[in-house]
Amino acid sequence: MVVQRTFVMIKPDGVKRGLIGEIISRFEKRGLKIVSLKMVKMSRNTAEKLYEEHKGKSFFDELVNYVTSGPVVCMVIEGDDVVQVIRRMIGNTDPKEAPPGTIRGDYALSKSENVIHASDSIEKAQLEMSLFFDKSDL
Ligand code: ADP
Ligand code: MG
Repeated sequence: MVVQRTFVMIKPDGVKRGLIGEIISRFEKRGLKIVSLKMVKMSRNTAEKLYEEHKGKSFFDELVNYVTSGPVVCMVIEGDDVVQVIRRMIGNTDPKEAPPGTIRGDYALSKSENVIHASDSIEKAQLEMSLFFDKSDL
């Protein structure tokens, strides 16, 4: 058993559409532990750090505008192999390719506004957690 922590964020469209409870409930029912949780309005500076790997791509400005357009819900979640488990629960980046039963496959259609973010590696999880949470929150 490999207990890990990852960073998950319900994006502004997920919050506006009232999906917070539904999404958190899926993680709880899966047996994962919510270690910390908060709603914030992200600054452009933080958004640019979160999505640094996409800087220079055609969709970067649109992406920063989108994730700073309203409050987001940030979480640190713990569990066995949680990084990969949650990436599989959220589904493909393009929701049209995400299987039914995944979060994006059930609640999204747009490749840009796709409801949820989750770290894709243990290293990125550490970095992304540190953008939103103090050590004392965890
Ligand atoms: P993921 O969120 O699945 O890790 P990426 O890291 O590739 O996906 O992209 C980060 C976010 O940027 C996506 O979730 C989506 O909101 C947005 N995005 C990615 N690709 C595109 C695209 N081709 N056009 C518009 N927005 C995109
Ligand atoms: Mg990504």
